[in-house]
Amino acid sequence: MESTTIATPGTTNRRRGAAAATNSHQKIVVIMGATGSGKSKLSIDLCTRFFPQSEIINSDKMQFYRGLDITTNKIMVPERNGVVHHFLGDFDPTQPEVTPSDYRSLAGSAISDISARKRLPVLVGGSNSFIYALLAKRFDPESDVFNGPDPDPVSSELRYSCCFIWVDVSLPVLNWYLAKRVDEMLDSGMLEELAEFYDSDEFDSVMGRGGLGQAIGVPELRRYFSKELGGGGQRAYEDAVGAIKENTRQLARRQVEKIKRLREGGWDLRSVDATEAFRAVMGAESGGRTAEVWERQVVEPSVKIVKRFLDE
Ligand code: ATP
Repeated sequence: MESTTIATPGTTNRRRGAAAATNSHQKIVVIMGATGSGKSKLSIDLCTRFFPQSEIINSDKMQFYRGLDITTNKIMVPERNGVVHHFLGDFDPTQPEVTPSDYRSLAGSAISDISARKRLPVLVGGSNSFIYALLAKRFDPESDVFNGPDPDPVSSELRYSCCFIWVDVSLPVLNWYLAKRVDEMLDSGMLEELAEFYDSDEFDSVMGRGGLGQAIGVPELRRYFSKELGGGGQRAYEDAVGAIKENTRQLARRQVEKIKRLREGGWDLRSVDATEAFRAVMGAESGGRTAEVWERQVVEPSVKIVKRFLDE
């Protein structure tokens, strides 16, 4: 196992003696990408094998909340390989939803705490509004840099020293994979999980509050689960699954647009192209080849990027 020491304030000769280090010297790694692009897998590969002094901070707004683990694609405990994850399923979904401003303050405190313990914060997740709120040097909760005909300008000044890795997958290939992933999620219990959620005491207090009630799968299956809406039946089920796949594809497309907007706004995003690894899955090639392509095309370049950043 290889590891690199983190040059956080106070850990290098160059920085020792800097009485009050400013946030902009705090180093963080940010793993971005569309839903399904392999961000979680890459983060675990990096944190377990190369940078074991890391802790992951979730930046997926739906994975913040307790519940719907399959529906929201939370990385399960065994897959975390012992890497500490912050804000993963910690929040009560019946409470008011976590806003970008809340995230700025919560994740900001987590970064200070992790850095103070001389560990490396690694931000992982697809909610670009949260990533922007956290990382922009000056964040105005009223401004919207992503939506509308005339979005506000992106702040290119950042609060931390950031190493951005964008796990990029060509959209046609990702779309194929996303449809397959929805089928796999359904096979591994997504429908049963949502049936239980619709039946639960907390259902009414979650719905209409934003947050978890907006997770893809919840609104789409509403008619299927609702007797009042004449739901149930094969037709309602197939319609819902079709809508889940379409909405997931749209989410991925919007996420990529937002990432490109940040890059155009001056954020130094380094992309690693994971398309070939997904093509290997598509070609139903052996798991061995997929793993090898993933390693060569995604893990190795990412390790180089992060090492260079930490050694700067
Ligand atoms: P927006 O302003 O569109 O909410 P955002 O950057 O704040 O964008 P995204 O992560 O792009 O947040 O999420 C947008 C929507 O996509 C969510 O409201 C939800 O419907 C869906 N979504 C995002 N992440 C998940 C997830 N893990 N599971 C299910 N649905 C999700």
